[in-house]
Amino acid sequence: MRTILITEGKTKVESPNPEDFKTGAGDYAPSLTKVFYNPNMELCRDISISVAQVTAQMFNRLYICDPLAGIGIRGLRYANEVKGVARCVVNDKSMDAFELIKRNAELNGLSNSVEASLADANIILLQNRGKFNFVDLDPFGSPAPFLDAACSSLSRRGMLALTATDTAPLSGTYPKTCLRRYGAKPLKTEYCHEIGIRILIGFAQRIGGLHEIALTPVLVHATRHYFRIYLQGQRGAQRADELLKEMGYISHCNACMRRKISYGLITELPEHCECGRKYSHAGPLWTGKLADKRFIQEVIADLSERNFGLKHQEISLLCRCAEEADGPPTFYDLNRLAGFLKKPTPKMGELISAIRSNGYFASRTHFSNTGFRTDAPIEEILKIIENA
Ligand SMILES: [Zn+2]
Repeated sequence: MRTILITEGKTKVESPNPEDFKTGAGDYAPSLTKVFYNPNMELCRDISISVAQVTAQMFNRLYICDPLAGIGIRGLRYANEVKGVARCVVNDKSMDAFELIKRNAELNGLSNSVEASLADANIILLQNRGKFNFVDLDPFGSPAPFLDAACSSLSRRGMLALTATDTAPLSGTYPKTCLRRYGAKPLKTEYCHEIGIRILIGFAQRIGGLHEIALTPVLVHATRHYFRIYLQGQRGAQRADELLKEMGYISHCNACMRRKISYGLITELPEHCECGRKYSHAGPLWTGKLADKRFIQEVIADLSERNFGLKHQEISLLCRCAEEADGPPTFYDLNRLAGFLKKPTPKMGELISAIRSNGYFASRTHFSNTGFRTDAPIEEILKIIENA
């Protein structure tokens, strides 16, 4: 294996050369057979470091598990860059990866806090029932096959971090795969990625429910290539039941862009929109808040003190997540609305202030640069654009 030395954050790792995995357009093709390091995930990992640091403040000593570690970059960075980490289990089932994890732990002087492990991800998680207060599932593809074991390994108020790279099924490109994998129907709309993230959260919460753990999202972010969600766990059947009340469905009208939320896992869905056309449905999914504003502000404060190369990008992403945190589900696309009215596209900032001055919530969204989130009815939004 051809390896090179890479520095990310404060951590050095020996890694297979990412150039060997490069496809066109600056993407990297992961491989199920070879150990792989994806430089495009640096931003995602930097944010994880600050999330783990904020989580560490809730516990005396942080016990972390990175069960699908590859070369170990995430787990090693936690052990090296987060204060308060007592132990970090960095596991992979590949011998090549295991050898690299051990070498990389030594390279950073982390042999005391890092426990390199060679096992199936589900087995290492099941062997540590209730032990970890931070579990980071970072698979190639779907985290679904590991969620049950991850929930059983979570401590009382443990944090569960998930990456999903199967954004195409979750966003409605392959609805059958989404239904089979997550037991939910996605929907191709301008906010299909948000629907995908809400389906993923809802699925994780139903698995959490089996373990009597309530999993509440405190931060999520999405790109075309991956979804990242952080779920704060809390043990208790009652709390898990409370959470299920915010499970539901989104009904979308393709003719007039109206959306309707129905609450409850088992509930009746509206058939027809007020305009007379038939609704399309997505769900079951999480209809509650996608983030906790105060939590994000703490993450931003931690990030600001660090010396990350991508800090500026990360902070502006998180600021936008905080801005939209208290908004309702779904967002609108400015160009689509203007096209619908055959009007020139209004300025985003002006539209948002106009909606706010009518007494509604309005914000931009990190999901799309041309998207905005509001609880104003569609008629009100269209009226404001008409009169702009
Ligand atoms: Zn309609």
